[in-house]
Amino acid sequence: MSLKIKILKSILASEYAIVASKIKRIDGYANANYIITQASEKFIFKTYPYDSVLLDILEAENKVLVVLAQDDQSSFPEPIPFTNGDLIKVLAINGKQVICRMLTFLDGEFIGDVAPSEELFHSLGTFLATMDLQLQQLDSYVLRARQWEWDLQYFSFNSKYIDDITDTRERNIVRYFFMQYEEKVCPLLPFLRKQIIHNDANEWNILTKNGSLSGLIDFGDLAHSYLINEVAIAITYACYDKENPLKWASIVLKGYQEVLPLTEDELSVLYYLIAARLCTSLCNSAHAKKVDPENTYATSSENNARQLLHKWLRINPIAAENLFRETVGLPMHKTPSLEQSVETRHKNLSPILSMSYNEPIQMVGAAFQYMYDADGNTFLDAYNNIPHVGHSHPRVIRAGQRQMAQLNTNTRYLYPQLADYAERLLSTFPANLNKVFFVNSGSAASDLAIRMAKAHTGQSTMMVMEHGYHGNTQQGIDISDYKFNNPKGQGQKEYILKTPIPNAYGGKYSGTIAGAMYAQEAIEHISQHPTSIAAFISEPVVGCGGQVPLAPGYLKAVYPAIREQGGICISDEVQTGFGRLGTHFWGYEAQDIIPDMVILGKPMGNGHPIGAVVTTTAIAESFGKGVEFFSSFGGNPVSCAIGLSVLEVIVEEGLQDNAKMVGAHYMDLLKQLQKQYPCIGDVRGSGLFIGIEIINDSNGQPNQKLAQHIKNELRDRHILISTDGPFDSVLKTKPPLCFTKDNATEVVEAIAAILKTSTNEVS
Ligand code: PMP
Repeated sequence: MSLKIKILKSILASEYAIVASKIKRIDGYANANYIITQASEKFIFKTYPYDSVLLDILEAENKVLVVLAQDDQSSFPEPIPFTNGDLIKVLAINGKQVICRMLTFLDGEFIGDVAPSEELFHSLGTFLATMDLQLQQLDSYVLRARQWEWDLQYFSFNSKYIDDITDTRERNIVRYFFMQYEEKVCPLLPFLRKQIIHNDANEWNILTKNGSLSGLIDFGDLAHSYLINEVAIAITYACYDKENPLKWASIVLKGYQEVLPLTEDELSVLYYLIAARLCTSLCNSAHAKKVDPENTYATSSENNARQLLHKWLRINPIAAENLFRETVGLPMHKTPSLEQSVETRHKNLSPILSMSYNEPIQMVGAAFQYMYDADGNTFLDAYNNIPHVGHSHPRVIRAGQRQMAQLNTNTRYLYPQLADYAERLLSTFPANLNKVFFVNSGSAASDLAIRMAKAHTGQSTMMVMEHGYHGNTQQGIDISDYKFNNPKGQGQKEYILKTPIPNAYGGKYSGTIAGAMYAQEAIEHISQHPTSIAAFISEPVVGCGGQVPLAPGYLKAVYPAIREQGGICISDEVQTGFGRLGTHFWGYEAQDIIPDMVILGKPMGNGHPIGAVVTTTAIAESFGKGVEFFSSFGGNPVSCAIGLSVLEVIVEEGLQDNAKMVGAHYMDLLKQLQKQYPCIGDVRGSGLFIGIEIINDSNGQPNQKLAQHIKNELRDRHILISTDGPFDSVLKTKPPLCFTKDNATEVVEAIAAILKTSTNEVS
């Protein structure tokens, strides 16, 4: 609605006795504003389509402005009375009811337009705190009753717009922070102070003059809300565009604290409230874009909000809270002493459970590809493949929570989650792999697979891969060279036939013929073995062997030989499955074969303990002739809901493609590094499942010492990777699939920096 200048002039003359020399219209969010000039004075005339609730709110706003103007006429807009003394009126204009009011116009430059300085942002803090102290004199039932999306106490209202965010991964980061709000903020709400606050100290509402803060405008978002929301909102906008957001957060906070001290509870929710404000912006701009793609006003701060939210995710909440505490003079949270934590662990747990790194990490939280320790550090997780779709993924967590709150039982009852998940999971396999057995771990799956293989074939000999690992049960150890062949291991059992790993790097054969040559040897072993082989089990890429992809063509030749003598072929996809290899959803697909049985685990539940055996009808039927199979937890509704959500997220976020794209970039960078450093013997893998073989420059032998050094140095630079392989000399990287190209670049740059300073010393 825009008024004709002629009509406007006559309203101004009759209602305010103002003779306007100039009138300029400026954009408003949902109303029309006009800058009115009369001689040297400037006013802002505001009109709104009539709405009785809005009228109440605007009257409340006027009351607030009158009180603020009592102490300070220059910093806040002041209502200008109509000639009859009213501060607001409903006028009939062009046959429509229009709410009209006028305020003094404040000159100045927006803080968003001036170079940021510490003094300026400090004074923003003191200014807001001074205003909030003044606002404590007031109360308003209208403002108490006001409920809408832009008041952080009603943050949850914005959840209805989450689906309007078009970028799927961003949508899930927003969901993550909604979840954090519920977990971390909601329980403390009853203990937080409430009062009237401005509620929108953004960079286009704060005015400056000559580099100093001069005023605050636009009280249209006034709320009776949590006092800390005022600070959170101001900090959010103060951090926009800044290299180091926490620095600016602390400057604003310090200024505020000097005038109006905050409580410990208020400070403890600040990190999450800032994230919540960013999510509010993203939700509302996504919604505004959807309903009115032309409206750029509503989406103007979207990019800033997006960038800051991604930065915020990388900030350990403990680091933020500790900084806030330090800023206001409170002691920082104490980190539990490492020695004490280790001692407590060893009191009740055996040291056989090893810990990673020379200096173990005390983890307290994680989000997507980041992990947070108790000291406030954020680690880039380039190692953990169990949180396949990302740590604390909100879709997975919600799926589990919802199902847990409804029903968790066992497979002796009928419930749709089991059938739905089975159907969805089996749809990722070829038609003949059409029966699934759910268990709770990869180990339980491999154990069951061996049991089924024995039942189906009537044989008991198992052919296993050199350096393979399949689980921690007795059966799992028996079929895992990685364990039984360890110097402290139980040794090879008589029913085990071990076949050499078809490693095209550093092995007996190399080049394109390697697969065929290794296969020929394996086939000879099979034919020479005194008993028939019940099953051959291997991974398509041998993880514990040091991320060794089986030489191409190997399985294609060996599988028929196993089958010919009555055995079955098992692919252990615990590490390689669910799209990690990028090119294929299951690792065996890359070898152009179809196994008779597939073992699943780790990423299947994104951290929730699920495993499964997928097999053919014939094998399932043979197994079905034996005693009943039952797993107390396998296939329970909660596990099924979680497993299903993981599959959905992989598709929704395009994570297999991401693994392919980011993995290719990662490999590229690593191969470039390999050219510079002879200590990198081999770079291998696929998608986000990569191994980097570290060797001695001089003789090409595995260099465990240097590999360990790199791993520990990376840890000190807050990057998590691990080592493995027969000599523990292979750097293993297999991050959550939400890993980005920038993340990969960061890891490779860090390895380069480490190698630059350490190859000579450690080789
Ligand atoms: N198979 C492979 C290839 C594995 O890597 C593992 C675990 N590292 C397992 C099976 C056993 O899985 P879990 O630890 O869940 O029992």
